[in-house]
Amino acid sequence: MSRQTLTLAALATLIGGSACEAGPTDPVPTSIAFTDVFVVPMDVADVQPSRTVLVREGRIDWIGPASEARIDPDALVIDGRGLYLMPGLADMHVHTWRQADQLLYIAYGVTVVRNMWGTETQLEFRRRIEAGELVGPTIVTAGPLMDGSPAFWDGSLIVTTPEGARQAVRDQAARGYDFVKPYDRLPAPVYDALVDEAAGVGLPVAGHVPIDVGLDAVIQGPQVSVEHLNRYSTLLQADPPDSAHLRLGESGWLTADAALMPPLADRLAGDGMWSVPTLILWERFGMTAAERGAFMARPEVRLVHPGLRQQWTDFAPSPQVADLVRRGQPARSAMVRALQDAGARLLLGTDVGNPFIVPGAGMHAELALLVGAGLSPYEALSAATRAPARFLAADGSFGVVRVGARADLILVEANPLDDVVNASRISGVMVRGQWFAAAELRRRLEEQAAAF
Ligand SMILES: [Zn+2]
Repeated sequence: MSRQTLTLAALATLIGGSACEAGPTDPVPTSIAFTDVFVVPMDVADVQPSRTVLVREGRIDWIGPASEARIDPDALVIDGRGLYLMPGLADMHVHTWRQADQLLYIAYGVTVVRNMWGTETQLEFRRRIEAGELVGPTIVTAGPLMDGSPAFWDGSLIVTTPEGARQAVRDQAARGYDFVKPYDRLPAPVYDALVDEAAGVGLPVAGHVPIDVGLDAVIQGPQVSVEHLNRYSTLLQADPPDSAHLRLGESGWLTADAALMPPLADRLAGDGMWSVPTLILWERFGMTAAERGAFMARPEVRLVHPGLRQQWTDFAPSPQVADLVRRGQPARSAMVRALQDAGARLLLGTDVGNPFIVPGAGMHAELALLVGAGLSPYEALSAATRAPARFLAADGSFGVVRVGARADLILVEANPLDDVVNASRISGVMVRGQWFAAAELRRRLEEQAAAF
């Protein structure tokens, strides 16, 4: 089955046009050289020593042996000795509602985000980032999520008829959103109309598995990604309990049969479905009250917008629910490993916007969780670099350190392929060709936090 890929505004942003101009107070050197650096290209599981990387006009223009580099006389030269240059990271599942998030993403090396519930707010962030008025990642965004009645989340776009779904999809295409996100309570006929209309207007469908549709039908249909391993556990029951039990969702992981994971993973791989596990979402949801209190004392939490912090403080799931979510985590992790083993398509997403997930920092926690599930550092990082570019039909245009790719880069202090934690040891970040040393990012974050 052929799957749609993003082709509209997002693609123009991702691969088209010239480099993003900086604002008048921040002139961007047109030429930047990373000299004598280890390159981590991320399209091979390998590191190339003693390279010089030349960036011109926001793109990687030349990579070669440091001894052969011809550096422009007016270039900004960044001494890369002992450092590793890797692609910027893509967080493929966020909910970014606040301007303050944008700088956090960059500070942690996240240079692309896929926003899973979009409104004018995110379209405006995107416009300002593209115009160079705001430092932030490249944003790909869904429109308002589409759900049945009553919607799971307040503020959802409620669609209850096939014609209503078709109209909603056309509206979202016209407003400039990049894909449509279906949610749990859509009736099957409405979902069917949604995916059909989306195909007609060229918008991919990415999101949840509506209960009334079920995973089986979603796999067979044109939806391109499933978030959170949503309802995967329904197809992992050797002795299916009553359907009401499975409709609860996450409880299904407690009775998931590990022997059924490889066949499901094979099926998803064969179909080309992308999975976005968001293991961190469940890890954080499953924290105890004591763990939640300790989390709020972590230093990076101070850098988060107070409105978001307040939502976290207010978050108090029942101990029973938190415990259920926590106990499902080994099975979710095993499913992630099965997906990797089967060669299924994985994207890293954090679900920023949910409790205790710091924009940007959550990326590094999810990388560690993917490695904990059994992926190699290269495999985990692939889900945040090259794979997102493939997902967005922009293979080679970002997510790799290769000539021609957009200059979204992270300079780190040690080899991230040896230990994925090294991807967080950031010496500086380049986004669309604009360079920020770590100290400058820290200064901007402190300045931003002081103004909260
Ligand atoms: Zn989400």
